[in-house]
Amino acid sequence: MMKLSELKGIGPKTEALFMKLGVDSAEKLLEYYPVHYDEYTEPEPISNLTIGKKCAISVTVSKGVSVFSKGKLTITSLDAEDLTGRIRLVWYNSPYIRSILKKGNTYIFRGTVAIRRSGRVMEHPEIYSPDQYGEKTDTLNPVYGLTKGLSNNTVSKAVRAAFEMCGPPAEFLPEQIVAMSGLMDEAEASYCIHFPENQEMMVRARSRLAFDEFFQFILGLRMIRMHEEEIRSAFDIRETWDTEDVIEGLPFRLTGGQMNVWREIEQDLSSGHRMSRLIQGDVGSGKTILAFLAMIMTASCGYQSVLMAPTEVLAKQHFEKMQALVGEQHLCRLHPILLTGSLRAAERREALRAISSGEGNIIIGTHALIQNTVEYKDLALVITDEQHRFGVYQREALSDRQRPPHMMVMSATPIPRTLGIIFYGDLDISVLDELPARRLPIKNCVVDPAWRPNAMRFIRREIEAGHQAYIICPMIEAAEGLEAENVIEYTVKMKKEFPDVSVSALHGRMKASEKNKVMEAFSEGKIQILVSTTVVEVGVDVPNATVMMIENAERFGLATLHQLRGRVGRGEAQSYCIFMAGQQSETIRRRLDILNHSNNGFEIAAKDFELRGPGDLLGIRQSGDAYFSIADISRDAEILQKAGELAAVIMHDDPGLISEDFAILRGRMKTYLETDHFSSL
Ligand code: ADP
Ligand code: MG
Repeated sequence: MMKLSELKGIGPKTEALFMKLGVDSAEKLLEYYPVHYDEYTEPEPISNLTIGKKCAISVTVSKGVSVFSKGKLTITSLDAEDLTGRIRLVWYNSPYIRSILKKGNTYIFRGTVAIRRSGRVMEHPEIYSPDQYGEKTDTLNPVYGLTKGLSNNTVSKAVRAAFEMCGPPAEFLPEQIVAMSGLMDEAEASYCIHFPENQEMMVRARSRLAFDEFFQFILGLRMIRMHEEEIRSAFDIRETWDTEDVIEGLPFRLTGGQMNVWREIEQDLSSGHRMSRLIQGDVGSGKTILAFLAMIMTASCGYQSVLMAPTEVLAKQHFEKMQALVGEQHLCRLHPILLTGSLRAAERREALRAISSGEGNIIIGTHALIQNTVEYKDLALVITDEQHRFGVYQREALSDRQRPPHMMVMSATPIPRTLGIIFYGDLDISVLDELPARRLPIKNCVVDPAWRPNAMRFIRREIEAGHQAYIICPMIEAAEGLEAENVIEYTVKMKKEFPDVSVSALHGRMKASEKNKVMEAFSEGKIQILVSTTVVEVGVDVPNATVMMIENAERFGLATLHQLRGRVGRGEAQSYCIFMAGQQSETIRRRLDILNHSNNGFEIAAKDFELRGPGDLLGIRQSGDAYFSIADISRDAEILQKAGELAAVIMHDDPGLISEDFAILRGRMKTYLETDHFSSL
């Protein structure tokens, strides 16, 4: 690994900024792929410009450039005109612009068009001479995810420097295989994804890298599972009346689908073989109760079970629900225990004691559950919720070699069954395909920012009716060059807009304990408006929340939006989801419209896939999380299939990767399986 500060032009300050993005070495930097690409399109007539879109115009400067101050701000502006119309160009705190622009000269200005009180403006346009711009026209420029203080240009330069210093990564597949599968060479793909000559090259490079991600993942999975055949279960778990009583005592009736899946689980647990089952069901289909029943059955037979959630908030919520269930139904033999990273030392000690003594028989928590310090007394069942955030690897970590526990995985990711099998390999799959009745379908609308005042009124009305609202922003804080709403500033705005109502922020950079506090207050109804990033995406359940407004909805993948939307519509009241499209375009509208007309995760993924063109291959990914950094399960189904086939052939022919042909692959897989890239999926 080469440190970033060893690269030409990168000092400790820039290095620290990269660290913030999780890039801590030159090698990692090469894998820091652009989030999308900017195209330098031909200049357009001013009257044609689209609000919210990046465009270029060709203008001959005929008037003077004006510079004036407004508070701390210096504003430089130019009224630009062509034969078709006019638009104001503005630059903030850049008075030097005046000396650059010469009267009588023609320039190409490129920027995003916005509407201000004074009319249409282009803010901070880039300035080119017609010749300079001509050279760039129709090239693809990488756009990277940034953080405050780090410019796109710096990242781009750093990537170049990294290529110069360490060279591209080596091809790890035998030449013959690369040729046969029509893949681009590894080194070429790795360079091309950052600096594509044209769109075709970019698409090919991306395919190769997506292939790599799938291939390594599947191969890794198979390598870990190689020795795992059908295993007899070491636990004597039988069907019990306790679970029947619990089902009877629930405030709702299980749906037919839930009942069927529950019978499958019950059968698995008591079959004498080790259970390995994936429960797939759309958001809100009611997976949690199935997990609880399995845990109760296990505890009734004298064993421990674990439910592992991807976030503290979710773990806590599951725990509280379980506690409530135990209380309501007087299940006095059940002792739920919560174990998360943010417990205080004394609480933690107590939890660990209860777990190792066996007194705690229903154990709920986060990653903290798989640390070495946790000793289980008699662990017979491991359930992971929203599995894609964990890896098999972590499930294996809980697996005692002598007495492997039953495994159950719950997921809302809509992947087709055939892919599920490649992906999850040996897992049996149950599908919950029915939503609990009595739920009113969520009402959706797609609107533009001009409608925001109405949205605010609407939110106020819902709050006055005693309900709560989520507002989702794509970013935590303002970042240079990215025009999208952010949680920090939005929260301030909302506090002003709703001075009489409790408004709070929630985002990934808060400490776990703070996040818990906020989420708890929200579920207790002490917070009315929660302004959040997608951290609420996973599983949180607050039935009293009836509105969700998603800002810059165009920036999220449809699957993410669907998951987000699943946070409302969980109670009996009518719920609403407002998709605010910060940018207007026909494609964006059509994409968001899919959500408007469908409530089915599978259908949404399929339609989205049809609609997206090659231009935003990277731009919008299905899973909004760190599943794969470039590949996309639903879009790249064919590549996934190919990667799966190759992995199968290799595992069949040379499972130990002993052949000289696989020398590089062997090394690469070793690193892959050791880094947390694999385990933190
Ligand atoms: P998910 O499948 O997304 O994890 P949850 O398990 O969180 O969904 O369930 C969503 C909500 O629906 C919860 O409030 C839960 O109590 C409720 N619920 C679950 N099953 C039923 C049912 N059969 N009838 C009515 N409500 C149900
Ligand atoms: Mg859930």
